[in-house]
Amino acid sequence: MHELTKTSLKARVPTPKRIGSSIKKDAIHPRDYNAYTLPYACEDCSHFKAENESCTLGLMTEPHLRRTQVRSYEISGKIALCRFQEID
Ligand code: SF4
Repeated sequence: MHELTKTSLKARVPTPKRIGSSIKKDAIHPRDYNAYTLPYACEDCSHFKAENESCTLGLMTEPHLRRTQVRSYEISGKIALCRFQEID
């Protein structure tokens, strides 16, 4: 009886959501990373304001700044490409 109650309670209590990165990162082949000048950072984007490292669209720039992207690529081979990036 006691086990039944425990099991029923477990079934009703939802598992808390895992906290993780919500930004999906894309893998870039090292050959391409080294061969091409890829515009992957905020610093390459028309919406970037260098004075205060902000985005004119109001997006969070930290995950897309060059220093963050380079560090991410060196660690994982992946970078967080911004889907709103525009290049003149
Ligand atoms: S649109 Fe994306 S890449 Fe461009 S400045 Fe804003 S956050 Fe950075």
